Amino acid sequence: MISIKSNHEIELMRKAGEIVGNTHNYLKNYIKPGITTKELDTLANDFILKSGATPSFKGLYGFPGAICISVNDEIVHGIPGKRKLKNGDIVTLDIGACYKGYHGDSAWTYPVGNIRPEIAELLNQTEESLFSGLSVIKEGIHLGEISNAIETTARKYKLGIVKELVGHGIGTEVHQQPDIPNYGKKNTGPILKEGMTLAIEPMLNMGSADVAMLDDDWTIVTMDELPSAHFEHTVLVTKDGYEILTKR
Ligand code: MG
Ligand code: MG
Repeated sequence: MISIKSNHEIELMRKAGEIVGNTHNYLKNYIKPGITTKELDTLANDFILKSGATPSFKGLYGFPGAICISVNDEIVHGIPGKRKLKNGDIVTLDIGACYKGYHGDSAWTYPVGNIRPEIAELLNQTEESLFSGLSVIKEGIHLGEISNAIETTARKYKLGIVKELVGHGIGTEVHQQPDIPNYGKKNTGPILKEGMTLAIEPMLNMGSADVAMLDDDWTIVTMDELPSAHFEHTVLVTKDGYEILTKR
């Protein structure tokens, strides 16, 4: 079942989303060659706590970090650690915050220093895929329309669409019904209603769609070791469209 949020719940989700957006704005100033992913994680943890929320992913299914930090060919669930960011890397910060029991979730891939033009394109094209998915959202559409819009943009750029990882409903838990794949057909899946809250998150690879799991049992990487990008917003479905809750 897909939950419909009351006005009060939506207020709490706006606040959770605002904290996530602010955390992104705060952290992006620290993304420079030489900083470790653990240092970024500590900054995120402290910022979220100071904002009156808790990091959603800390301890979720046993995850050890406050946020997920994935570099280059790492797609998702990178564990913060001693790794130093280098000029030319890309880094995805996937940030969740829980405010009074309600979650916001947003991932964004950032360049570290100067990146190669083809990697900059991957970032732009994945961000565009996110917004093409968002652009179709309103009460009354089938969920598959979002998936189809993301897929159409990703295919236009010949990107590898990660199949194993999907967007999701969100609310009192980070991951709720429904699953939202980044590929699919129009006129399939449940019909959206005003008051649903969804995390839309294309994860797109420069090369093939195939993935592998690292020995840490968390980090998912591209099989061909080419870079991957990830852009995510938590949104509210409205009568005529959508509202981004994790605004920047
Ligand atoms: Mg996320
Ligand atoms: Mg998510």
